[in-house]
Amino acid sequence: MPDASNQRKNVTYSAPVGSIDLAAEAEDGTPYEIWPCHDCLPWHAEVIQDGDEVAVREWHAIDCPQFQGLVNGAAG
Ligand SMILES: [Zn+2]
Repeated sequence: MPDASNQRKNVTYSAPVGSIDLAAEAEDGTPYEIWPCHDCLPWHAEVIQDGDEVAVREWHAIDCPQFQGLVNGAAG
């Protein structure tokens, strides 16, 4: 039986995407590993520099549950 919770979500390559900026490393300098998103197809990432800080900008389909979690986590 298909997962009904995914049926309304648009996570295809043509889905609208949104971005979130994440730290590239922990406070002690340990780099974070970045894994491709399993929940949306248009996922990709950019490395960006903000002053002396290096960050990672992840792009997901706006409907991606991972993206929703990141956005809600960042906001809350
Ligand atoms: Zn995603």
